[in-house]
Amino acid sequence: MVRQEPSFRESVDLMFNRAAALMDLPPGLEEKIRVCNATYTVRFGVRLRGQIQTFTGYRAVHSEHMEPVKGGIRFALSVNQDEVEALAALMTYKCALIDAPFGGSKGGLCIDPRQYEEHELERITRRFAYELAKRDLINPSQNVPAPDMGTGEREMAWIADQYARMNTTDINALACVTGKPLNAGGIYGRVEATGRGVQYALREFFRHPEDVAKAQLSGKLDGKRVIVQGLGNVGYHAAKFLSEEDGATITGIIERDGALFDPEGLDVDAVHNWIARHGGVTGYPDATHTAEGAAVLEEECDILIPAALEGVINLTNAHRIKAPLIIEAANGPVTAGADEILQQKGTVIIPDMYANAGGVTVSYFEWVKNLSHIRFGRMQRRQEEARHQLVVDQLESLSAALGKTWSPTPDFKQKYLRGADELELVRSGLDDAMREAYQTMRVLWHEREDVKDLRTSAYLVSIDKVARSYRAKGL
Ligand code: NAD
Repeated sequence: MVRQEPSFRESVDLMFNRAAALMDLPPGLEEKIRVCNATYTVRFGVRLRGQIQTFTGYRAVHSEHMEPVKGGIRFALSVNQDEVEALAALMTYKCALIDAPFGGSKGGLCIDPRQYEEHELERITRRFAYELAKRDLINPSQNVPAPDMGTGEREMAWIADQYARMNTTDINALACVTGKPLNAGGIYGRVEATGRGVQYALREFFRHPEDVAKAQLSGKLDGKRVIVQGLGNVGYHAAKFLSEEDGATITGIIERDGALFDPEGLDVDAVHNWIARHGGVTGYPDATHTAEGAAVLEEECDILIPAALEGVINLTNAHRIKAPLIIEAANGPVTAGADEILQQKGTVIIPDMYANAGGVTVSYFEWVKNLSHIRFGRMQRRQEEARHQLVVDQLESLSAALGKTWSPTPDFKQKYLRGADELELVRSGLDDAMREAYQTMRVLWHEREDVKDLRTSAYLVSIDKVARSYRAKGL
């Protein structure tokens, strides 16, 4: 009999159930945590090109154990209720795991954004934002969206402006959405945050030789062969940082129109620029192109980074995946069935709810910045520099008193004397969040006999935190 693939939401529920079976939760509470609290469907018309076009959008609220609830807005033709509910559930678990004080939500609009002019997209986005905001499904204290597939800074700026126009006296209006451009209330480091988080997650994984050995790998990130699917916001930044800063070799890049492969390593920026100019990877001159993109997921490599969409590693191809380590930069790229097959093969999977949590972590910092109305580091930076200068002056006069010349390494003074700016603080906070969360997961993975994989431990950690928070409310 052919095994049926569950839907995305069912897949998330199956993984939840697998972890919940190892916990001692009252059955009612388990059900309360698992189900999606509410999903709002909106259909609205916008007059475009001389006629009214009707669009369908969703905003799902999975869990309100903490408010506001948080989660991106996706623009794609494939958006549907099942998908936004699955993604909203993942947001609940992700925020709990990473200690971002939010419940989980997600939104989506059924649209192919590439089919519209910028001014048309602005009208559609503003209208969608209006429909959500008037029901408090966009609100700084109740529901705070962010970018996801098909949306970015531009859309977030339109949403923030739309909310501000509807709430003219709300002093915290900018905190109604995150992922905004810097000049519209954004924060340094948000655009790159999810890809940066993938890099920090891998760095932390490679700090633990026992974990690396479980993936039948050894050594550090340097020289590891990496295949990335999707060179969008998340995939591009992850591939760029891993190749430029950690010495990894990007051997394959898979896009909508096929894949590029070069065992010597692809130039991530050159490919990215090519896609921006030509709309795809086809024709890129410095690598082998194959039209059968998805087949490259099955090529030999050390690390596979699916960073495009869900369900790409499924019952049909899981047994052919050769990568010993998969880091789920996208949400839900491995179905529940594929997850079982890969586990049996010994593949280590760094799960989505952890791997792509960098975005919501920096979104949390942006939301706090908007509510405090001051950029991070503004009060301390010069004071920090002055104190460091005192230490350097003292060292210099001490060595002079001893008749010696103090000669630190050339960049010591430049690095030590400079007070941290917002970008450095954001990176430090993100690195801390990624390290801490990984450590909580790995403890269970290593200590509990019945926890065989990082995904189950991630669920255990997050379900436990959500359960505690419901219990604290008396539920
Ligand atoms: P994006 O729209 O910027 O990029 C997606 C990329 O995937 C595009 O380059 C697109 O051409 C490519 N793609 C689409 N279909 C493909 C296919 N069939 N095969 C190969 N490539 C394909 O989106 P993004 O923001 O980078 O999001 C990617 C994934 O990461 C999604 O699952 C999203 O939910 C998840 N994610 C994003 C963020 C964020 O901050 N943007 C945060 C957490 C998780």
